[in-house]
Amino acid sequence: MNRQKNAWPLPCPPIPEDPRLARIRDRDPTADGVFWYSVATTGVYCRPSCPSRHANPGNIRFHASPAEAHAAGFRPCQRCHPDETSFHHAALIEQACRSMDRAEIFPSLPDLARQAGLSPGHFHRLFRAATELTPAAYAQAVRADRARAALSTAETVTEAVYDSGFSSGGRFYERAGSMFGMTPTSWRAGGKGETIRFSLGTCSLGAILIASTERGLCSVLLGDDPQSLSADLRRRFPNALLTGSDPVYDRIAAQVIACIENGTMPDLPLDLRGTIFRQHVWAALRDIPSGATTTYAELAARLGSPGASRAVGSACAANPLAVIVPCHRVVRRSGDLAGYRWGLARKRALLDREAVPEPCPESDTDR
Ligand SMILES: [Zn+2]
Repeated sequence: MNRQKNAWPLPCPPIPEDPRLARIRDRDPTADGVFWYSVATTGVYCRPSCPSRHANPGNIRFHASPAEAHAAGFRPCQRCHPDETSFHHAALIEQACRSMDRAEIFPSLPDLARQAGLSPGHFHRLFRAATELTPAAYAQAVRADRARAALSTAETVTEAVYDSGFSSGGRFYERAGSMFGMTPTSWRAGGKGETIRFSLGTCSLGAILIASTERGLCSVLLGDDPQSLSADLRRRFPNALLTGSDPVYDRIAAQVIACIENGTMPDLPLDLRGTIFRQHVWAALRDIPSGATTTYAELAARLGSPGASRAVGSACAANPLAVIVPCHRVVRRSGDLAGYRWGLARKRALLDREAVPEPCPESDTDR
């Protein structure tokens, strides 16, 4: 083996009994993230669940990571996007995060991995890739967040300590210094070092707050009174510099209000922050056309994770861009409106508005 120093050793063809071939044949989503394969004749590499036509096994090579496939000279497949965390895994990680959010006693790594049906090593790797935190750091951040919440309501510090899941006060104090100022997850890091411009006003649905980072629209909040909306913005971005509107930003805010009043989707960049799972759900919500509705279960099935309708529901509830990400178009199978982050009356008003197409004098053919 006198290969060049930096060249990746070319993998060998698989033996016909290699169980990985069967997983590719079955397009097994649980094999995603375990291995990748490339096809010599097309020059691309795929995740095992790729929907593309099956390749001749003789042309297949296996890789332990996308980087390895890339180093061997292959390009990522345009259909299965093998470099991204799969939706199946994002759903598993999301479930693990929610179970830690609710846990009184934090599950161990082997327990979390078992619940996800993965080996501890594989689970740990996927968790880090999806959240940029280890499961232990995530659990610690959840504790910090609880401690912060408990300290503002608890009668005594001891009560706060036990409410937040610490086994002893000593450990609480030991950790408190490094924990405070930390939010539960790095993707909700609170806008540290960022400037957020916001506009506060009213629309037909009540008070509205519209806010943008330098990257795009980050909050569209609806409510009864402007004070609670600005408090909500502060909670979402505790470390950002919040600044009021100016004439340029007023024009952006006017586009958002136009969307709420007459359904004209603004052409604005969005800065949507959330887990990979939530990003998938929010993107799918944006594909539901005005006048149509779907159910939580249908949306979960469309995203390839039919069991995840509860997680889809919490993604809808966490949507930071009211109406722009139309989570109001998701209802229960019975036709019942289910919940709405900004109040059921607003959801009903939006759906009623969308059910009756407005007459459009400019165009008489499109509707
Ligand atoms: Zn593919």
